[in-house]
Amino acid sequence: QIKDKAVVIVFGASGDLAKKSTFPALYTLWEEGLLPEKTRIIGYARSKLSKEKLQDQLFWKIRDDAKEGHHQEDAAKMREFEGLVKYVQGSYDKDESFQELEREIEAIETEVFSGQKSNRISYLALPPSSFSQVSHMIKKHNYSPETINRLVIEKPFGKDTEDCKRMMSSIAKDWKEEEIYRIDHYLGEEMVRAIYHLRFANSFIEPLLNKDHVESVSIVMKETFGAEGRGGYFDEFGMIRDVGQNHLLQSIAIMMMEAPASLEDDSLRSNKLDLLKGIPPVDSADLVLGQYADGPNGKAYVDDETVPDDSRTATFAQWAMKVDNERWRGVPVLVKCGKGKSWKSLDEGLMTMTFHLRAPRNNVFNVNEHSNSLVIRMNPEPAVFFKANLLKPATRGTEAIEQEIKWTVPGRKVAGDKLAYEANIFKGDQSSFVREDEVIAAWEIFTPLVIFPKKDRSRPADRLFWYTGY
Ligand code: NAP
Repeated sequence: QIKDKAVVIVFGASGDLAKKSTFPALYTLWEEGLLPEKTRIIGYARSKLSKEKLQDQLFWKIRDDAKEGHHQEDAAKMREFEGLVKYVQGSYDKDESFQELEREIEAIETEVFSGQKSNRISYLALPPSSFSQVSHMIKKHNYSPETINRLVIEKPFGKDTEDCKRMMSSIAKDWKEEEIYRIDHYLGEEMVRAIYHLRFANSFIEPLLNKDHVESVSIVMKETFGAEGRGGYFDEFGMIRDVGQNHLLQSIAIMMMEAPASLEDDSLRSNKLDLLKGIPPVDSADLVLGQYADGPNGKAYVDDETVPDDSRTATFAQWAMKVDNERWRGVPVLVKCGKGKSWKSLDEGLMTMTFHLRAPRNNVFNVNEHSNSLVIRMNPEPAVFFKANLLKPATRGTEAIEQEIKWTVPGRKVAGDKLAYEANIFKGDQSSFVREDEVIAAWEIFTPLVIFPKKDRSRPADRLFWYTGY
């Protein structure tokens, strides 16, 4: 655990992730006293950033949340935080730039840490294509053997199994697995973290979660935003790579894995890995792809100026998977995910995971055979509910009606709603960060779909349809 001295270096400080996620998380952690006592922050990028532009990067989200009425802007606090931040302009491939960065870190160590070496967190808010080179340069010039060093990276971790292995092995030449924190921000969502309690702090849920009681599992995710200026990134990746291989598969793994022996990093992650290894690659015959068309509420995906006119990237994907292990054999897992808001039917943010339970063995009340289910809802309002058949109130007969038994999770809608997640980087708790073998196992499930092997059937992208709702 890093308690007192830390320098956090945000590489790509001029970018979108730094502005929307990394700096706001650091600010909120600092505000809540969750950063090591004497933390200093260095923003690093190639761009020349004026004082105003740096301020905009640091506080854009804080100001935006204040405008939305989530909290009040605190100018004095923001000035104090700004005082902890330096900006270093440098390239990602030149030794001199990283040497200059090292001089800045050493100056902080002299001025703030009385000449002692600090712990160092390097956060790569950069395109993945630069991860290998930048992580190598940090190891070469900015690694402190006497203290703790951590490297933080965000998905996407490659574009398929081979690409991911190349990226991982090149980073692993310089960094040990226990130093690497691979962020999947879904694992920081309160509802996803609450799944562990739901399953393992109760005795009545776990006995239901197996092939004897569950007929099928379905996951639905809808995002209301489409390309909206970020087509450059999305068009290269598409829906399966953007959310299927990571967020959705991680949620499935947490909900369907075996109970861990403890909450230790590797017990949880090893059980997720075992679950992932039980999922065979998805067959392209079990896949449907789509792309949103224009509609009353907005333009088509290809009409966005950042998307090529002839793009065949899927903004919708639906597939069936199976988990080939003793607990789940024979239970289909159906996943449906899409984005866009051009049609009313898409105009909703949603993420639910539903365990459809088998019908009562002795159906004396003659209830609908598919009416029992356990639903985990991440979005819009985090909640867990059972759909059950109960006695129709105030009835003289025996008629059953479908009712929901519900528990809602009050979500925090401000910048720091994933605080506990980011704080784990300083605590050294890797349990909610994705281990290398998990990322590779997840790619193996989807690689045959995304690299389109030459088979005699048509490539999935050639079978893409244009959709107006789902
Ligand atoms: P970005 O804005 O495109 O890039 C971040 C910064 O990296 C840029 O400001 C630029 O800084 C530098 N950069 C851009 N292209 C580069 C290149 N080809 N080689 C080296 N440096 C380059 O990216 P981002 O949206 O912040 O995302 C960063 C990473 O987080 C990506 O892996 C992305 O997939 C992931 N991510 C982003 C979000 C999000 O909300 N934005 C969400 C989840 C994951 P300088 O030119 O000033 O050096």
